[in-house]
Amino acid sequence: MAPLPKLAVFDLDYTLWPFWVDTHVDPPFHKSSDGTVRDRQGRTIRLYPEVPEVLDRFRGLGVPMAAASRTGEIEGANQLLELFDLARYFVQREIYPGSKVTHFERLQQKTGVPFSQMIFFDDEKRNIVDVSKLGVTCIHVQNGMSLQVLTQGLETFAKAHAG
Ligand SMILES: [Mg+2]
Repeated sequence: MAPLPKLAVFDLDYTLWPFWVDTHVDPPFHKSSDGTVRDRQGRTIRLYPEVPEVLDRFRGLGVPMAAASRTGEIEGANQLLELFDLARYFVQREIYPGSKVTHFERLQQKTGVPFSQMIFFDDEKRNIVDVSKLGVTCIHVQNGMSLQVLTQGLETFAKAHAG
C-alpha cells in the first residue's frame, strides 16, 4: 500500500473557494431559505465544486485534515467553513495573517504530526516555497481543489516517501 500522509492541510482562498474572503465578498455570510450561502449583499458564494467530495475522500482514507489561511478576515472565513458544513472535517484551523510557517509550526505542535508526514495544498507559490522548507509535501493548486489534484498530491507524497 502506498504511504498516506498523517495530516492533509488546505489553504482556503483560491484553494477551497474561488475568491479572497477579505476582498471579493462581503461578510457577514448567511444561508438563505433555498440553502445557498450568500454574502451581505445577497450574492451567492460557492466552493470549488469537488471540494466536499475531496474532503470526504480524505476522511474515507483516514487522513485527518486541517485548514491554514493567512486571511485577515478571520471571522468571515470561519463562518464560511461552518455554513458550507466543512468545519466538521478539520481537526485544527489556523486562520490569521502572517507567514504560513507559523501556521505549520502550530499545527505540528497541536497535532504531534511531523512535517514530513503532512501534505499541503495551496494556490500561492510563496506559501509552497516557505512550507516546503519545513519538509512538508506541498502541492501547488492551479484551478482550485479537485479530485484530480487530490490524486496527484497523494502520488507525489507516495513518491517522496518510497523506499
Ligand atoms: Mg490561497
